[in-house]
Amino acid sequence: MASRRRVRRREEPRRPRLSHWRADGQAKSRYRSEADANRAALQFRLEHGVDLWAYVCEFCGGWHLGSGDDR
Ligand SMILES: [Zn+2]
Repeated sequence: MASRRRVRRREEPRRPRLSHWRADGQAKSRYRSEADANRAALQFRLEHGVDLWAYVCEFCGGWHLGSGDDR
């Protein structure tokens, strides 16, 4: 009599907003510290005119840079 199932259809797995991976499936560049990540973000902004933001990755514990596409 296993008629009661505890499947919650509503809560489908969602992609985490701050990911270890890029949209193309490759691992993102990892930085040891926020300072390193911010330096890379500044460099990228100067070279490409794109604003990036640094965040701590829950997967690897390092820092990654996110762009508008990740939000
Ligand atoms: Zn990571």
